[in-house]
Amino acid sequence: MKVAIIGTGYVGLPTGVGLAELGNQVTCIDREPSKIEALKAGKITLFEEGLEDLFRKNVKEGRIHFTTSMKEGVETADLVIIAVGTPPHPITKEADMKYIHAAATELAEHLQGYTVVATKSTVPVGTGDDIEQLISKKNPKADFDVVSLPEFLREGFAVHDFFHPDRIVVGANTQRAKDVITELYKPFQGKTNMLFVKRRSSETIKYASNAFLAIKIHYINEMANFCEKAGADVYEVAKGMGADSRIGPRFLNPGPGYGGSCFPKDTNAMAFMGRANGVDLSLIEVAIKGNDARKKQMAKRVLNAVAGLKSPRIAVLGLAFKGGTDDCRESPAMEILNEILETPGVKVTVYDPKAMDNAKKILGDKVQYAAGAYEAAKGADVLVVLTEWDQFSKLDTAKLAELMHHKRIVDLRNTFRAEELAAAGFEYSGVGK
Ligand code: NAD
Repeated sequence: MKVAIIGTGYVGLPTGVGLAELGNQVTCIDREPSKIEALKAGKITLFEEGLEDLFRKNVKEGRIHFTTSMKEGVETADLVIIAVGTPPHPITKEADMKYIHAAATELAEHLQGYTVVATKSTVPVGTGDDIEQLISKKNPKADFDVVSLPEFLREGFAVHDFFHPDRIVVGANTQRAKDVITELYKPFQGKTNMLFVKRRSSETIKYASNAFLAIKIHYINEMANFCEKAGADVYEVAKGMGADSRIGPRFLNPGPGYGGSCFPKDTNAMAFMGRANGVDLSLIEVAIKGNDARKKQMAKRVLNAVAGLKSPRIAVLGLAFKGGTDDCRESPAMEILNEILETPGVKVTVYDPKAMDNAKKILGDKVQYAAGAYEAAKGADVLVVLTEWDQFSKLDTAKLAELMHHKRIVDLRNTFRAEELAAAGFEYSGVGK
């Protein structure tokens, strides 16, 4: 099948590479020339485990191409996938549809023959109808269907999730469109759950799923607070809860609050849609408020660890919104850092294995950047873990003790073993224990 993908970001690129690997002819379109130039030159533009090898293989075998030209990708395509951003509106926090509307309008005039236009971007209910109208208005002769094809990949596992999806949700209102999507996902038939639903249901499934997961994280964070006061261990509690198949063990990891480019924006967009439809979605509203407050509480916890010191040095390990990615968008680490940096006299040195470049764009010269975890720890009064990278749990605690000025660790990802640190003479504070 000939597939055009509009938007070559964290969703568009892994999807394009994955579809090429399945044997499709893929054209990835992005309006950012620097991205397309890099990809054309064989340079991958974001970090995802396993993506680079697969990208090189498919470029070499001629199944994937990159262009800034909408015409080049769309006019020969059987399927056009929209994977542009839907960021939060700065004031209302609803999903800002400007990129979606621009993409739909730009692609319209290039449609030739019957084409399915599928939305992988996370979009508010009714967006499929809007796209339909925009395309028909621009190109009244176009023969097309609009399908909702929500994306459920996890950043850091995008390649794995592309090839092993939990489910594929298809919101299609015509049989012709269903047939095209069925053909696309033929390699997954019998291996995964394929759900055909109304387009509006499909658009809702994505938001309902992300809001539910955000609430689950917020819930275990509240339990972590409770366990700290009540002398319980949140991991034992989570294990006991998760063993109930009605609850399930995943997304019961306490931490500094949920973040990333999806949960904060999607919970806010869902809450906005609730208000717009006059429906009480207070559970989501509470999770949003609680999660915002949590990051402030976590910053306070870090500052308490250096209270009384004149010009404290704080070493921060982890900047990405979670391990396995270089993405710092809405990272709890960024928000906690910004909060900490408001305290006069505090000096912060940071390190992340993959996210340094993206973090620099946000933090600028407000912090110092170290080349490794030990370098960051040198002379620090407290070491703070903000992202759960595997390599942090393997750090030599004796070496850390030697390098640091004060032996204090605030571990907001419970990366270290408390007993080991106590033995090495550290004052240690984890989450929920
Ligand atoms: P991103 O910002 O990484 O990528 C979007 C890309 O679209 C950018 O490269 C941008 O230049 C390009 N673009 C914007 N307008 C364009 C246009 N008119 N023509 C061509 N290119 C254009 O965003 P992302 O993280 O990949 O997210 C995309 C969508 O997928 C969002 O709606 C998001 O909510 C959803 N989503 C993201 C994830 C995730 O893990 N990142 C998971 C599921 C769903």
